[in-house]
Amino acid sequence: MRVANLSGRLCLVSDDRAVDVHEASGHRFPSDPQAVYDRWDEFRTWAAQVDTGAGTPFDPADLGAPAPAPRQLFAIGLNYREHVDEAGFTTPETMPPVFTKFASSITGPVTDVTLPLGGHTDWEVELVVVVGRPARRVPEAEAWDYVAGLTVGQDLSERILQMSGPSPQFGLAKSYPGFSPMGPWLVTPDEFDDPDDLELACSINGEQVQHGHTRHLLFPVPALLSKLSEVLELSPGDVVFTGTPAGVGLGRTPQRWLDHGDELVSSIRGIGELRQRFNRA
Ligand code: ZN
Repeated sequence: MRVANLSGRLCLVSDDRAVDVHEASGHRFPSDPQAVYDRWDEFRTWAAQVDTGAGTPFDPADLGAPAPAPRQLFAIGLNYREHVDEAGFTTPETMPPVFTKFASSITGPVTDVTLPLGGHTDWEVELVVVVGRPARRVPEAEAWDYVAGLTVGQDLSERILQMSGPSPQFGLAKSYPGFSPMGPWLVTPDEFDDPDDLELACSINGEQVQHGHTRHLLFPVPALLSKLSEVLELSPGDVVFTGTPAGVGLGRTPQRWLDHGDELVSSIRGIGELRQRFNRA
């Protein structure tokens, strides 16, 4: 099942067709794409009998983030070994670094992004998890039952601000306008042969710069949900950026940053792709 935010309305989609959930359900479910996660189990049962092939064609440019206003947005650092190495850190043992990207930075999958003036803007393709049930002290073995679905995310990061001062500024440096694109839609875990092994990649102007597999996550999705929910309660619709594989600009020799006119395409096989075009202010 694929769930999309189309012009701000909750939809079920197939390749090129969309069904408006509010209309098709006889107004049983609201049109707000974020509100559905509070009734996720009920929604899934209803949605299973919807024929998306009978929907209407849509324009991918109208897609928004599948979880546009989460109560909490978590981002995980240092979660692939080769990325830990290129970033010059030591491997986390019991808990990876957890920070937030502020929700005002969330956008849909196809956008133009203004580069912060004088900054070094970097790319980080990531698997993104959206939570489907309240989760508190969830055992790893049950964690996938708490996942509404998966989507593609870009954890865009301005490295000068991130590295400035006495301690890293992850939250602000990764929260400039447009720095958290997500999409193109949410795919439910049952759609994958193995949701713990997804292939992700990103390219700049057609040149591949990152390529990895989520089977190499140091803390896989079940471990992340278990560890986060050990500390606090996860709410339906919460978002978790799970970390990026190697190949970011920071870790290159020479270092490389996104520039005016660059097009960044971020993809996960079985989900889809994001497309960001960068402009100087
Ligand atoms: Zn990241």
